[in-house]
Amino acid sequence: MVFWPNDYEGAWTLSNSVKRKGVCLHTGYESEVRLFPSDLPGFYVSWREANEPPLLLKPDQVRESNLCTTLEVGGRRLTTVEHLLAALSGCGLTHVHMEVTTDEIPLLDGSAHGWVEAIEEVGIRPASSPRIDQLKLDKPLAINKGDSMIVATPAEKFCLIGIIDFPYEAIGQQMFSIELTPQSFVKEIAPARTFGFVDQLDQLKKAGLIKGGSIENALVCNGDSWMNPPLRFEDEPVRHKLLDLIGDLALVGFPKAQVLVYKGSHSLHGEFANELLKACSQNY
Ligand SMILES: [Zn+2]
Repeated sequence: MVFWPNDYEGAWTLSNSVKRKGVCLHTGYESEVRLFPSDLPGFYVSWREANEPPLLLKPDQVRESNLCTTLEVGGRRLTTVEHLLAALSGCGLTHVHMEVTTDEIPLLDGSAHGWVEAIEEVGIRPASSPRIDQLKLDKPLAINKGDSMIVATPAEKFCLIGIIDFPYEAIGQQMFSIELTPQSFVKEIAPARTFGFVDQLDQLKKAGLIKGGSIENALVCNGDSWMNPPLRFEDEPVRHKLLDLIGDLALVGFPKAQVLVYKGSHSLHGEFANELLKACSQNY
């Protein structure tokens, strides 16, 4: 049984290094990620063959991307980072160095579960330096894009409410709310897999995108049913949307706030992360 922190106040790193490899969604190539303990606050990345010092991941490195979250780090792109970042930050880790072999993070089973298992394999320990300060929101913040929106209000804890609404009978309207802690993240959010729609997936494949996408790493919806049941949770899609939001907040840190997201997307999450950072900048 792994020890998880009770909240996101502390500074934590891995007890040892651990690696995972798997197929990447976009390129279809295999890549490997090694996670190392770190003495420095934040998440760092290095490329194995580059022989350069690790670079700090920062919110201003996020680049517009539709299907995943991409970072531009030291002139290189690092793609599909969101589930790994969700796992690290969701488990309460604050000091981690990741070494990658390609420019894309493997998808594993389409959730954060494989990364959580890797963290569980080696365990976590207190970090040797303080964490980057947690954001403190003083007044409500709201952003919207078309009919999607995110509203954050100051709170003592970090609470998330997700709502999605799809015109497919298999998904429909779903709402899920959670007080996020490392324990609740591991149990309720991390196992939720990404999902797609069979007609869109065919189009993307024909366009040469998502070469590594398969029913092994995504739930595929066929309108009124799922092509690869069973689901891990009845409301797995909305939980996965919260997993994506958690990953997209990992580089700014979790605010003490209640955050409601309606029809979230990576671009909306990115905009929210920037606004959050601006709204909280008076705290620095
Ligand atoms: Zn996702």
